[in-house]
Amino acid sequence: PRDGCQRLLRYNFVTNEQTGQNLDFPFGMSRRFTAPAHSTSGKSVFGLEARGVCLVKMETRVQAAGEGIRSAVSILASGGLVALPTETVYGLGADALSPVACAEIFEAKDRPLSDPLIVHIPGIDWLDRLAIVPEAARRLAEAFWPGPLTLVLPRRDIVPDLVTAGQETVAVRMSSHPLFQEVLKAFGKPVAAPSANRFGRISPTCAGHVLAELGGRIPLILDGGPCVHGIESTIVLIDAAGIHILRHGPVTAEALSGFGPVHGAVAGISAPGG
Ligand code: AMP
Ligand code: MG
Repeated sequence: PRDGCQRLLRYNFVTNEQTGQNLDFPFGMSRRFTAPAHSTSGKSVFGLEARGVCLVKMETRVQAAGEGIRSAVSILASGGLVALPTETVYGLGADALSPVACAEIFEAKDRPLSDPLIVHIPGIDWLDRLAIVPEAARRLAEAFWPGPLTLVLPRRDIVPDLVTAGQETVAVRMSSHPLFQEVLKAFGKPVAAPSANRFGRISPTCAGHVLAELGGRIPLILDGGPCVHGIESTIVLIDAAGIHILRHGPVTAEALSGFGPVHGAVAGISAPGG
């Protein structure tokens, strides 16, 4: 949502630009404002026109495994955002089954609502709860998960429309990153996580990149060091004709060719990232 739209914001504190006064909100508390957005001094600051102009800022913590995992799980459970390392790039995670939590992903990334999110699952048992899974897709999941392969499948109703951008398919993946897995196992639910960059920019491959992109917009970055692959997951769609590669990535066409005929993109569907 842009200027003039209602925005749901959940930030640590709000500073009134004119008085410099901090209006503290306990973390996790939500406030609904109806106001146009401002960007002051060209910086990525959300402004609110109320009485005067308020700057909405948030302190972004960077934490390593241990404390970082505990913080990540509690933020996800309260509907907040966390940047998490995966084996491909850093993702910006939220509770995938909560439309309000997922709305914050779009807000923090400046991502258009037309760009659907990838859903990361804590275990294979979640696959059938989120999607209708043809045998060919199940074989790919068994062969490449956990790993950098995303499957686009017919969705089930449990998946919020916001996550799929209203489409009848959902993109699902299971990451092999040990910290990511630990967070998801402890959280116990799927996490929607597009790359942790502002829309249209390069995907971050270390915590410092995420801080430069989203510092002040999200409460926590879980620092797991540099990502192994450094490029986004391969995205495939499976149908009766075979495997369609929507986005090329670490799992190559050659690796997929053992599982059926491999084709390029399907007309009308593309997956550029963002
Ligand atoms: P990102 O994680 O930021 O690289 O973005 C995820 C990518 O997955 C986006 O480019 C989406 O187009 C793609 N994607 C997510 N869900 C679907 C879907 N249901 N069908 C096709 N592509 C999808
Ligand atoms: Mg991206």
